[in-house]
Amino acid sequence: MEANRNPARPGEVIGHYAWASVEQAEEALGAAHAALPGWAASNPQTRSDVLRRVGDELNARAEELGALLTREEGKTLREGIGEVRRSAQIFHYAAGEPLRQGGEALPGLRDGTTAMVSREPVGVVVLITPWNFPMAVPAWKTAYALAFGNTVVLKPSEVTPACAWELADILHRAGLPAGAFNLVVGDGRTLGPALVDGADAVSFTGSPGVGRAILERSVARMTRVQLELGGKNPLVVHDDADLELAVDIALQGAFHSTGQRCTATSRIIVDRRVHDAFVERLVTRIAALRVGDPMDAATDMGPVVSEAQLAKDLHCIADARSEGAELAFGGGRMDGDGYFLEPTLFVGTDNAMRINRDEVFGPVACVIPADGLDHAIAIANDSDHALSSGIVTRGLASAETFRRRSRAGLVMVNAPTAGIDYHVPFGGRGPSGYGGREQGSAAVEFFTEGKTAYINHGIAG
Ligand code: NAD
Repeated sequence: MEANRNPARPGEVIGHYAWASVEQAEEALGAAHAALPGWAASNPQTRSDVLRRVGDELNARAEELGALLTREEGKTLREGIGEVRRSAQIFHYAAGEPLRQGGEALPGLRDGTTAMVSREPVGVVVLITPWNFPMAVPAWKTAYALAFGNTVVLKPSEVTPACAWELADILHRAGLPAGAFNLVVGDGRTLGPALVDGADAVSFTGSPGVGRAILERSVARMTRVQLELGGKNPLVVHDDADLELAVDIALQGAFHSTGQRCTATSRIIVDRRVHDAFVERLVTRIAALRVGDPMDAATDMGPVVSEAQLAKDLHCIADARSEGAELAFGGGRMDGDGYFLEPTLFVGTDNAMRINRDEVFGPVACVIPADGLDHAIAIANDSDHALSSGIVTRGLASAETFRRRSRAGLVMVNAPTAGIDYHVPFGGRGPSGYGGREQGSAAVEFFTEGKTAYINHGIAG
């Protein structure tokens, strides 16, 4: 039994969660395999109705569940409620998928034949998710997996199990047959191997190291795998940018959700001609951010998720200082028991520094000066990661140049690197993402298997 604590008030226990054994994880896989034929063959309307009811309940309980999410993860209440509402929208959108799932019939190339192309469920899908979007990431994987007739075993982060428990409960109440969705809470290192070995497909969101371990295990068994990993996302501030807008976008990208987003802005690449004016305005705005109790409507930024994450963030900050990065704001833990870190900005940094290479996953951003657009794009692309990128510019030509030349899977023009829609594909490349995109039109590729049938009608001509 493990205690789940509020990062703003670590004395407050949110709940105690029993961690599953490997045998229980295998039982969950067994239940998912047993339920597969029935769910895969179910009427599309049945699947659609279940998913719609899940979305309805999430919406109806958005404030209550948003508060739970905030107490568990630490993002502000506004963000917590927003995440639950977005999860509802994801279920509502996915509820249309069973009805749209089509195929095609083509005339065969031999007389009297037809070629039929269809898509079928992949089978039992294991979903392994991180703590930073404890409702939305499980939602966007589960909704599509079920929509296309797969059965699911979800292993949420052991840091944030409460939201996943609620989701499991809601799915059950929405009329999902027993075994179609299974929840396994517990330690990833212990349960991961058994879960991966028992899956027909694995969809993972989390850190690159764990993603690599899952990939190696999946490849050995030739299991389909999808990895959504970390980022080191650049925001380019071009010399023609509206600086107020640029500051707004940098602030949102770097510090919303306490910077704990895979799409968070961490490298702000600023043209030297506007560098000083931009930095001055950004520091003023950071200083005005209200950091504190995430349940308070006036708060802009809550705590980081855990003591371990706080220690990691502080270590990265100390390392950056030792490399010569200059602290323009923040850098320290705030008073009190909660895991509060000051929003932190470094200036005078170089893209080769470790602080600009490795993901921090906290409220820490660095400014890197650039000499013109080509240089800025070269810096933006000079990273192992390629998840999200952005440019702030008034010029159509510079925006289009950046869109074409950015290596990232997501490109934002005059918008924060974080902040994505749910109806279009999402994902990065290399150590940021592997095995195809999630969401929108991309989801069908991962969660279904193609079949081409040749039908000989025996009637020539
Ligand atoms: P993590 O990799 O530590 O854990 C993610 C999940 O993997 C957890 O459920 C954990 O229990 C499980 N796990 C751990 N070891 C495992 C193993 N050996 N086998 C199988 N599963 C295992 O990540 P985290 O700390 O929860 O989340 C932060 C990371 O997630 C960051 O790197 C962030 O960039 C990334 N992230 C990426 C996206 C995206 O869509 N690209 C979105 C959110 C978070």
